[in-house]
Amino acid sequence: MDLSFGAREFVVDVVTEKRKRLSVTVHPDLRITAKAPAGYELEVIRQRLEKRASWIARQLDFFERFQPLPTERKFVSGETHYYLGRQYRLRIRPGEKARVRLIGRFFEMELPDTSNREKARALMLDWYSAHAKDLLSRRLAQYVPTFERMGAVVPEVRYRRMKKRWGSCSGKSVIMLNTELVKAPIHCIDYVIIHELCHLLYPHHDRKFYHLLGRILPDWEKRKERLEKVVI
Ligand SMILES: [Zn+2]
Repeated sequence: MDLSFGAREFVVDVVTEKRKRLSVTVHPDLRITAKAPAGYELEVIRQRLEKRASWIARQLDFFERFQPLPTERKFVSGETHYYLGRQYRLRIRPGEKARVRLIGRFFEMELPDTSNREKARALMLDWYSAHAKDLLSRRLAQYVPTFERMGAVVPEVRYRRMKKRWGSCSGKSVIMLNTELVKAPIHCIDYVIIHELCHLLYPHHDRKFYHLLGRILPDWEKRKERLEKVVI
């Protein structure tokens, strides 16, 4: 049976079985399941679940954070770097001026001193940051009107390189997007953007939030799954 409760309206799939205590599990795919002792009345189960509401909320928030997988980068020739979900090889050669360009399957970098890894790193970060701001703002502009029509305020958007989160939305309609997102496939980028835009209308990951997300992006779970494999 499905039991919904709490201000955030959690939907819990409850099964009863021969056992002594009620146990609740929040799964990485955000499903909530509970096992209740056979014979427990619905109201009792509901009360027990209410007591664990804040714990459930914390678990959901944890699984929902869709953190990127960080990797140690050396910024040397031959290393793989990602852009829009594709792999590109870094190729560093001597050049008068420090610059990097995406050509074919390569990040072609020119450096006065090819062994200067700090410079190589800075160049790559600048490249990603510039491309991120351009691309993310264009994708956002595509979706904002839909949300405006539903009564959302036009958000203030900030771009920042973050290690732990792909995006966030504060109560004051400020959306923060991780510039590392450009390493992910475009359909994952759109998922993050739409997810944060949904927060303009529903700040919590409750039933209304997921209902809206599912309406706009019926395959959001697949996109989220793919996003979880993105290496930055
Ligand atoms: Zn969220």
